[in-house]
Amino acid sequence: MGRVLHQRLAQLSLEWHCPAKVEQLTPIAGGHHLQLSDGSQLTAGLTVLADGGRSGLKEQLGISSRRESYEQTALIAHVGVSQPHNGVAYERFTEQGPMALLPLPGQAMELIWTHPSGREKARMALPEREFLLQLQQAFGDRAGRFTQIGARHAYPLSLVTAEEPVRPGLAVLGNAAHALHPVAGQGFNLALRGVMDLVEALEQGELAKRPLGDMVTLQAFEKQRARDRANVIRFSDGLVRLFGHSFPLLPHARAAGLIGLNLVGPLRRGLARRAMGLER
Ligand SMILES: Cc1cc2nc3c(=O)[nH]c(=O)nc-3n(C[C@H](O)[C@H](O)[C@H](O)COP(=O)(O)OP(=O)(O)OC[C@H]3O[C@@H](n4cnc5c(N)ncnc54)[C@H](O)[C@@H]3O)c2cc1C
Repeated sequence: MGRVLHQRLAQLSLEWHCPAKVEQLTPIAGGHHLQLSDGSQLTAGLTVLADGGRSGLKEQLGISSRRESYEQTALIAHVGVSQPHNGVAYERFTEQGPMALLPLPGQAMELIWTHPSGREKARMALPEREFLLQLQQAFGDRAGRFTQIGARHAYPLSLVTAEEPVRPGLAVLGNAAHALHPVAGQGFNLALRGVMDLVEALEQGELAKRPLGDMVTLQAFEKQRARDRANVIRFSDGLVRLFGHSFPLLPHARAAGLIGLNLVGPLRRGLARRAMGLER
């Protein structure tokens, strides 16, 4: 995907600053002023803030975020597997928490293993052999044998949403606008749909001869985003609650949910379509 994107970018007449970071983002009349780490300065009628939400640019602009902790922590690491993964991703809803394995180049996969916050610490500290043993027990052998593990990282999980996703001359996109629980794997899909909606709103704005960062255009964009975002958050939160750890009746509800999903074709297909982002 990155390769295709770069090929297309090379065909367009764009001014391209890479590697560089936006160090300072300042509102000015008619847009924003950007100070880059390579020393250059830019002014823009429309700035798309898509920095992943951790670089402090939102805070520079005084855009606050709503943060709701899931009280869960994802343990993330690269693992070696004994058989080719053929590009298949796995998700397991285990008693110990949801876990996912995503294909990486070669015979390696990215492990995302959700724990109630605090409980990941013991696993982070396990010797490699013991960790791989526990992983194999929890995941089973569908992906083959786990042969080695890379550096382990722990990420506390929260739902983070920007309070002001649009301002005159500014649109906040992707994780900067919404960081979700990774259980449903929806963050990137949602970010891509944000890009599509922004392009559509800008095309409409151009047809109506409005300036690039006009609020009528950006509010139309945000109206579309708000609905999609709310649906995806509801869907992801539903999965977190159903497959999370904190409710005593959950093993039964979970089992009923999974059996229901297995038995009822339309329900399963509906879930898959929703998870692939084909249904808004
Ligand atoms: C463990 C895990 C598993 C996930 N699995 C899935 C999945 O299966 N499916 C899915 O859809 N989503 C998944 N997600 C979510 C997905 O990774 C994110 O939603 C997606 O990466 C968001 O893209 P983004 O471009 O908004 O932010 P990011 O991917 O964080 O990219 C932000 C970019 O901005 C750059 N940047 C930062 N600050 C500055 C600055 N000041 N100036 C210039 N550039 C800057 C960074 O270098 C980075 O390249 C997962 C997330 C996690 C944590």
